[in-house]
Amino acid sequence: TQAADAWLNSNADLRDWQMPGSHSSHKGSQGDLLVIGGAPGMRGAAWLAGSAGLGAGAGRVYVCLLEDSEKEAPWPPRPELMRWPEARLASPEHWQDLTLVCGCGGGAAVRGVLPALLARAARLVLDADALNAIAADPSLQALLRQRAAQGLASILTPHPLEAARLLGRSAAEVQADRLGAATALGEQLQCTVILKGSGSLIASPGELPAINSSGNAALATPGSGDVLAGWLGGLWARRPQAQTPAHAQALARSAAYWHGAAAQGLHGPLRAADLIERMHALHAPRPA
Ligand code: AMP
Ligand code: MG
Repeated sequence: TQAADAWLNSNADLRDWQMPGSHSSHKGSQGDLLVIGGAPGMRGAAWLAGSAGLGAGAGRVYVCLLEDSEKEAPWPPRPELMRWPEARLASPEHWQDLTLVCGCGGGAAVRGVLPALLARAARLVLDADALNAIAADPSLQALLRQRAAQGLASILTPHPLEAARLLGRSAAEVQADRLGAATALGEQLQCTVILKGSGSLIASPGELPAINSSGNAALATPGSGDVLAGWLGGLWARRPQAQTPAHAQALARSAAYWHGAAAQGLHGPLRAADLIERMHALHAPRPA
């Protein structure tokens, strides 16, 4: 499972995905993204992922908060986001084709939703507690592996500890051989993996892995990973045909590069919400 070689991610990975689309585009043609997550105590994860999805250019972003309650403090202002009722999780036939599961506290709510999601969603981005739930349950790992054979695409965005749990290794072992760990995880679960951290690694079965060259420690800030996952979801929404491991690899490379490029030149810690604005600014055409 050792990779002998790897690409270095560069600005070219970003260019293909920058806006604008065609003159005739409208929100219905830019794709839909459903974000599931943000159980109590982690509402911000879903807000950041949804907001990043919008920033990347998804046409419509729906957010389904787990264990939702009307009695809570109001959702922070982001009027473009649409709420998706939690009760709808009981009817998988109404789910969106592209779904992102982000931080959600690791409770029973996310475990309950994963089997049907893994079995049906055409395209899945899995982060944080979705990964922890999969690491703890071999039957979910088997469902994840089966997706590739069914032509269903999955992108996982673990940080080193989440990757360690999935691999049954320690975080120190993952960090000692990051390229090997990312490649092994992609092969073991038959999906695309972004192993995050300084020099994020992107690996997919059958593809040459890539090392991300952008970014710095300003990204080591709460919510940074939610922004990456949401951005990935937003880019993917715009390209519904991107289903193969090669497509998922290109997409993951672009999102990782973009995320890091937005932190270029920064020294102090960045607020994750500001990171979304900086990433969005990179859509603007560069001077010739
Ligand atoms: P998370 O741990 O899920 O919040 O994700 C953190 C995000 O920030 C990932 O995309 C990491 O790759 C990125 N990140 C964190 N620390 C660094 C660092 N020192 N250099 C570059 N990227 C980093
Ligand atoms: Mg995270």
